[in-house]
Amino acid sequence: MVDFSLTEEQTSLQEMARKFARSEMLPRAAECDKNSRFPEEVYRKAWELGLMNLNVPSDFGGSGLSLLDQVLIVEELARACAGMTTSILANCLALEPILIGASPEQKQRLLAPFCASFHLASFCLTEPAGGSDAGALTTRARRDGDAYVLDGEKCFITNAPHASLYTVFATVDPALRHRGITAFVVPRSAEGLSTGKDEDKMGHRASATSTVRFEGVRVPVDDRLGAEGDGFSIAMRTLDQTRTPIGAIALGIAQAALGYAGEYALQRHTFGKPIAEHQAIQLKIADMAQAVHASRLLVWHAAWLIDHGRKGTLESSIAKCFASDAAMRVADEAIQIFGGYGYMRDYPVEKLLRDAKLTQIYEGSNEIQRIVIAREQLKGAA
Ligand SMILES: Cc1cc2nc3c(=O)[nH]c(=O)nc-3n(C[C@H](O)[C@H](O)[C@H](O)COP(=O)(O)OP(=O)(O)OC[C@H]3O[C@@H](n4cnc5c(N)ncnc54)[C@H](O)[C@@H]3O)c2cc1C
Repeated sequence: MVDFSLTEEQTSLQEMARKFARSEMLPRAAECDKNSRFPEEVYRKAWELGLMNLNVPSDFGGSGLSLLDQVLIVEELARACAGMTTSILANCLALEPILIGASPEQKQRLLAPFCASFHLASFCLTEPAGGSDAGALTTRARRDGDAYVLDGEKCFITNAPHASLYTVFATVDPALRHRGITAFVVPRSAEGLSTGKDEDKMGHRASATSTVRFEGVRVPVDDRLGAEGDGFSIAMRTLDQTRTPIGAIALGIAQAALGYAGEYALQRHTFGKPIAEHQAIQLKIADMAQAVHASRLLVWHAAWLIDHGRKGTLESSIAKCFASDAAMRVADEAIQIFGGYGYMRDYPVEKLLRDAKLTQIYEGSNEIQRIVIAREQLKGAA
């Protein structure tokens, strides 16, 4: 059976997210973008409404939503501001390794505080020497009695300057490559942990991004997730879950661009008629609409598969890669339809292009997605 209808609960989740996005996010989006301001007040309100920690089960006080529910919410938020959405979603990314690798005691201890009050967490995988080749990371974890000592640096870490907890991937022995990678949770208060300056980014400027340094940080064995060497698998399984919502961020950007372009094309006149009546503009709108619809189907399908117990590596990579490439094209065409105004910061569409770009890069660049897609596809062909 194939059924694309949403349940009543899903429709009301979508409406709630849309209302929040329009009333709290959209009015602040341009100012936060201009000033690279991290609007903590918006993130606190998102938490109050249950729009953060979407993946945390209700046993720990979380929303316990399916992945399909999550992508419905994410698309609505990203239509208003992709940068804020990245910061809202960063908790899901950082808490997923705990959901995957932690013991029942650790889950209760680590997840419940995030649902009891507003806190931010960061996922620390990428390092300055390279993000794509995660198996080559060099942050060291040396065992010392009942603790590990962490030394190294992570970069481009979302929400790092504001986080109270970090999920960190470090190696117990670099010679073991991915088999040495081990996952830890580290509180902000840990001695020797520091964050760098907030990066000055092209887009997603309402989100904070910085380095995280570990200098002799002692982490009790109780704060290791899984066994030594489980970290690589925990990180990859995390990304299998979180890639589809990145596709939904891209979809939200593309939907916003299509909406703005359509409205503008109907009211802007050239040669005595709305530009929407010029066939060249209609062809652009048609291509943009196709890209948005196809992205939504791919994102929903990947989420549905994962909700039904499938790993969804192939489908979530396709959804993320396709939707983010589509968002770039659609945002670019929206600027073209706005003409010179599209190039001006007073209008909303140039931000969409800058925001779309990141969706091709983070949580596995689209080159890496294509490698994954080809590998999965060829497995099926063998
Ligand atoms: C704003 C922002 C927020 C981020 N948030 C986080 C976060 O919260 N946590 C976190 O851990 N990371 C985060 N990242 C890091 C992000 O996931 C990495 O930037 C990304 O994985 C790419 O790694 P890199 O930048 O080191 O590029 P590299 O790995 O150096 O790659 C450079 C280029 O080479 C390509 N490339 C690399 N290897 C191959 C290959 N085998 N074949 C073909 N092409 C290849 C890449 O696709 C890319 O185009 C964030 C990044 C940004 C910009």
